[in-house]
Amino acid sequence: MPVPAAAGPGHAGVRRWHAELAWLGRGEVRSGVLIEAAGTLFRSVTPDVPPEAVPPGTGRLRGLTLPGLANAHSHAFHRALRGITEAGPGTFWTWRERMYQVAGRLAPDSYLELARAAYAEMALAGVTCVGEFHYLHHGPGGSPYADPNEMGRALVQAAAEAGLRITLLDTCYLTGGLAPDGTPEPLSPVQQRFSDGDAARWADRLAALGADEHGMLAPYARAGVAVHSVRAVPPAQMHPVIDWSHRLGAPLHAHLSEQPAENEACLAAYGATPARVLDEAGALGPRSTMVHATHLTRHDIELLGGSRTCICLCPTTEAFLADGIGPAGALAAAGSPLALGSDSHAVIDLVDEARRVELDERLASGRRGRFGAAALAGAATAAGHACLGWPEAGEIVPGALADLVTVRLDTPRLAGAAAATALESVIFAGTAADVTSVVAGGRDVVRDGQHLLVPDVPAALSRALRPLLA
Ligand SMILES: [Zn+2]
Repeated sequence: MPVPAAAGPGHAGVRRWHAELAWLGRGEVRSGVLIEAAGTLFRSVTPDVPPEAVPPGTGRLRGLTLPGLANAHSHAFHRALRGITEAGPGTFWTWRERMYQVAGRLAPDSYLELARAAYAEMALAGVTCVGEFHYLHHGPGGSPYADPNEMGRALVQAAAEAGLRITLLDTCYLTGGLAPDGTPEPLSPVQQRFSDGDAARWADRLAALGADEHGMLAPYARAGVAVHSVRAVPPAQMHPVIDWSHRLGAPLHAHLSEQPAENEACLAAYGATPARVLDEAGALGPRSTMVHATHLTRHDIELLGGSRTCICLCPTTEAFLADGIGPAGALAAAGSPLALGSDSHAVIDLVDEARRVELDERLASGRRGRFGAAALAGAATAAGHACLGWPEAGEIVPGALADLVTVRLDTPRLAGAAAATALESVIFAGTAADVTSVVAGGRDVVRDGQHLLVPDVPAALSRALRPLLA
């Protein structure tokens, strides 16, 4: 499945927008901001430009404009589980059984269709870059496709067709888990589709994906790597994954301590917590991102913060799967940047993810205001893009990738928002439904709430989901 070279975000000419209000990255909200882009990058950003001084042909952005949002942790096919897994009680582990049923049904063409529709939903929610934590590599029973990277290529193509940038986090997944006593478990029939057999063969497959020496797959797509978790990759097999990240300067992600049972099995198997196992394998550091980090010891937090390892919180998924509330405040204080992901796609709404970081902290601590709106917006923008290997995205500054997300302030939820606290209004009361326009790499992807590349996103989702749920 070839990747279309000219597809994906990007625009060749010079474009201008005049934002009624704009949050300029780490700065405050400014009014009358004239934003100019040349090709895929911002060229100038000028606040306080009155409407009469705006050059002809400039696009008007009414509401609050933010940098593009980064969804730093996605499993596109989990979108199929929305709602249906809420009928009746269960645990993370019973939800996982349902997820495996869907995984067992996917093929490259249905994966492309589902991922394109899910990414289009993300674009409507203001996401301009997705980190796809990809482990559904092979056909039924684990037999490789003719092109062993066909499933990964389908995801890259899906992102291009939905107008997003993508970091394809090619995930090493080798064992079926750890029994409570720490014994490695064999792969289940569905899990065989996830495994390359060993890490050397994982590396061989990844080499055939065709990333250049900078890890790039296309101007809008880069490769990163992932260790699925300590449950799925024995420490002795982690080295090729970590080595690939170091050689190409590519992002390295891993699921970490999402459930207490993972910690208990890891302690039984290796005599150490998952964070310590990953630290001793060399997997922590400023280029690494640990996803969830919900159940940590004080020492784990010191290891993660001290190494500047990014933490990708997925608060809606962590609530939907009854994972628990992670120590976000302590991790940030220890030195870890925080990013956000919609993970299982129980909902796709980065604003919801952002505010839940603070709301969870309030529920756990009995105090308000650990994370302000700017810190939460920074997690949804600059920190998210950086942990996906795009540090040049996520701020409205000259030289950055020209991504803009505009949120209307005249919706029922946000009407009456004051300019001085517009960011607080959006982060603490807004939703994905308030996003009205999205520009990715200088190119319009969403205008007036309509996706310009996938004309009917709900229909595309229904079409993709129906055969998987039949
Ligand atoms: Zn995940």
